[in-house]
Amino acid sequence: MEKTTSNFIEEIINEDIRSGKANTVVTRFPPEPNGYLHIGHAKSICLNFGLARKYNGRCHLRFDDTNPSKEETEYIDSIKEDVKWLGFDWGEHIYYASNYFEQLFEFAIDLIKAGKAYVCDLSADETRQYRGTLKESGKESPFRSRSIEENLELFKAMREGKFKEGEKVLRAKIDMKSGNICMRDPIIYRIQYSNHHRTGDTWCIYPMYDFTHCLSDAIEGVTHSICTLEFKNNRELYDWVLEAVNSKNRPKQIEFARLNLNYTVMSKRNLLQLVKENLVSGWDDPRMPTISGLRRRGFTPESIRDFTSRIGVAKSDNIVDIAFLEHCLREDLNKRSNRAIAVLNPVKVIIENFSDDEELWLEATNNPEDEASGKRKIPFTRELYIERDDFKTEAPKKYFRLAPGKEVRLKFAFYVTCTSFETDNDGNIIEIRCTYDPATKGGWSEDGRKVKGTIHWLSARHAKKAEVRLYDRLFTEPNPYTSEEGGSFLDNLNPDSLTVLKDVLIEESLANADPGYICQFERTGYFCSDIKDHTPENPVYNRTVALRDSWAKLNK
Ligand code: ATP
Ligand code: MG
Repeated sequence: MEKTTSNFIEEIINEDIRSGKANTVVTRFPPEPNGYLHIGHAKSICLNFGLARKYNGRCHLRFDDTNPSKEETEYIDSIKEDVKWLGFDWGEHIYYASNYFEQLFEFAIDLIKAGKAYVCDLSADETRQYRGTLKESGKESPFRSRSIEENLELFKAMREGKFKEGEKVLRAKIDMKSGNICMRDPIIYRIQYSNHHRTGDTWCIYPMYDFTHCLSDAIEGVTHSICTLEFKNNRELYDWVLEAVNSKNRPKQIEFARLNLNYTVMSKRNLLQLVKENLVSGWDDPRMPTISGLRRRGFTPESIRDFTSRIGVAKSDNIVDIAFLEHCLREDLNKRSNRAIAVLNPVKVIIENFSDDEELWLEATNNPEDEASGKRKIPFTRELYIERDDFKTEAPKKYFRLAPGKEVRLKFAFYVTCTSFETDNDGNIIEIRCTYDPATKGGWSEDGRKVKGTIHWLSARHAKKAEVRLYDRLFTEPNPYTSEEGGSFLDNLNPDSLTVLKDVLIEESLANADPGYICQFERTGYFCSDIKDHTPENPVYNRTVALRDSWAKLNK
C-alpha cells in the first residue's frame, strides 16, 4: 500500500500555493443524496475536510442532487448527521447543485450560442452505436450541424416540456474522434419528468454529472476538486467545460484511489439492496459499513479518522484489510473505555463457606490503561455466576480455569476451589460448588501461592439481565463479489453474522448506562449499549469487536 505522511495531493496543493495559483484552499465533499454514507465516504470526508483544516481553508458540503428520481430528504439529513459525527463542520458552506439549475441552464445557452452544444434526436441506442469504442472512433450525429438558432429554440422547448423523455438531449460538441470516449459529444442535459425533492416540478430537464460538477465547483470557488480514480478520463471534459464557458475560476481535479475493504460491499446500490430485502435491519444495522452502522456498532469517530489517515492516500486501487480497521478501533477503545463485567453464558456458583446474609464490596479497576478512570465497588455474595465456558468437569492439560479440585482467581475477589458440581437429567451443569480462601482478598495470596487462571463473575442477587447481540462479518468471502455463474454477492452473506444472547448477566451500572455507552466486557470484547433499543429495564448491548487482534498479530 502506498503511504506517505505528506501525500501527493498535499504536494500539488503546496505547489499551487507556492506558484500563487491558489490562495485559500477550498475543497468540497459532494455526496449524491441517494443513500447513507459509508466508510469509503468517510475516507473522502476526512481527506477533504482534513485538507481544509490543515491549510486553513474551507470545505463545502455539496449535495450533488441532479438525479431527481433517486434522491430523498432522509438521505440528506443522515449525511449531515454523519459528517458532523465524524467531527467536521461545513459552517455556512452547505450547497445543493440543484440551487444552480438556473445558472447551469444559462451556461448551456452560452455553449449553444458559442456553437459548442447542440440538441440531438438520436435514441439512446443510436447514441451508443454512434459513440464508437475504445478501438473505433465515433460517428457524428446527423443533428450535429443544426444551426445555433434552431438549437436555442429546441433547447428552450425542451425546458418547456414540449418533448417526451428520451426524445431529445443536449450534447456538447467536442470531437467524435477523440481517443477519450468522454469527449465524444457527451450528453449534458436530458429530459426527465420527475419531481425533484427541492425544485419540485420546476424542471423537466436535468444537467448531467460532467456538466454540473465542474461548474458547481467553479461557482463555489473550489480550488481542488478531489475525486476517485474512475473520474480520471472525465478530467479532460471537466477542463473543457470550464474553458468553453470561459470560467473565471479554474478548479483543479485530482484523483485518488477509492477505499476498498475486504469482506465488505460499499456500493450504495448493493447496500440499498440489503436494506430493501430486509437482509439487515436497516441502513444503520451494526453490520453495515455505513457510518450510521459503524456508530451503532460502537465505532468512535476518532478511530475512523485515525484509520483513514493511517491508510494514506493512494494513486492506484488497493484493498484494505478490514482487520486493520478493527485494529484502529481496538487501539482507541483500549485506551478510553472502562471495563465492566458481563457473563454472556452464565452458570451458577455457590461459595459454600460464605454466608448468605453477607455481602462484601470489593474494589475493581475501571481501566488499567487509564489511571484517571478510578475504581468502583463490586458486590461479592454466596451465589455467583461465571461463564459456562470457564468450567469443565474434567480439565484437559493446559486448562487453567475452573474444574473439580482446581483453584482459580475470581477477578478482583478471591481464590476459589471447586468442591463439586450438579447436573440435570441431560448432563447439563446447573450448579458448581466452591470454597473461597478469605486470605486471598483482592485476588492474590499472602503465602505466595499462585494460580494460573483468572475468571470473571457476578453476584447473582445484584446482576441485571441483558440482551447481547454478537456481530460478525456480514460476508464470508474476502471478495463478496466472487460467486458461481449467475450468482450474486448475496450468496456470500454470512449466515452467522448475528447471534442474539437473551440471558446475559451484567453489572448494574451497565444497565443504567446511556444508550451508545462503549465499554470493554472483561475478557470478552468491546461492547456498546444499543442507540435504539437499550433501556435500563431492557438493556441491550452490541458487540463492537472481539478482543483478539488478528491484524496486530500478523504485523508484529
Ligand atoms: P457509491 O459508488 O458507493 O454509490 P458514489 O461515488 O456514487 O458511491 P457519491 O455520493 O457520489 O457516491 O460520493 C461522494 C464522494 O465520496 C465522491 O467524491 C466520491 O468520490 C467519494 N467516495 C465514494 N466512495 C468512496 C470510496 N470507497 N473511497 C473514497 N471516496 C469515496
Ligand atoms: Mg457518485
